Amino acid sequence: MAKLMLFDIDGTLTRTENGYLPFNQAIFETFGIAGDIRSVVPDGNTDPLIVKDIFARAKIDIEISSEVWERFTANLQSCYRRHVQQGSTAVRALPGAAELLGEIAHGTGYGVSVVTGNFEVTAQVKLEAAGLSAYLSRGAYASDSAHRPDLPVIAKARWEQFVGRTIGFEDCVIIGDTPNDLTAARQNQMKCVLVGTGRYPVEELVYWRPDACWADLSDTQCVLTALGNL
Ligand SMILES: [Mg+2]
Repeated sequence: MAKLMLFDIDGTLTRTENGYLPFNQAIFETFGIAGDIRSVVPDGNTDPLIVKDIFARAKIDIEISSEVWERFTANLQSCYRRHVQQGSTAVRALPGAAELLGEIAHGTGYGVSVVTGNFEVTAQVKLEAAGLSAYLSRGAYASDSAHRPDLPVIAKARWEQFVGRTIGFEDCVIIGDTPNDLTAARQNQMKCVLVGTGRYPVEELVYWRPDACWADLSDTQCVLTALGNL
């Protein structure tokens, strides 16, 4: 049966070391303000809302035009590229992520794409740095909407256009690491699996009652069987 797997990036497929360096630098270059992403909980949020949270926490009242958002996005992309190239920021695939994506893409015929709170350009930098970009078709990003529950239907439509056929919402599975991933799935009548490789341990994720919950993605065969049975 056809299925579409929609992966979150941060905490699900990849982990970034010192990701605050390019993020904070992009804030400073764009707004001239020394905002700090470490002052907020970014997990499961989208980049535009993370920026707004940072300013709200610092009690900075600022209107951000679409032009300024474009400048921030470009700055974030170039800062990320620079820090990754210099080695001051590292993006690594989480255990089992590459093996699982390879198996799904080549061994099952399922579609594989992303639903992420990153802007598309920074998602690309992260996935390339982690060696995962080749497995994933174009999905949905914070550059499409800052409201995460808007994203699954966009990713689904892009995949349908890419392969030239439609798929039911019930045959789409969101794989994420936060309650926000689950909310986005449920609001779109999609299935949801949560993994404990981000901020939240499995015991906490189970409480939110996803369709399945794993410590990580390292047991490829077990994960594939479970995804097939959803
Ligand atoms: Mg995440």
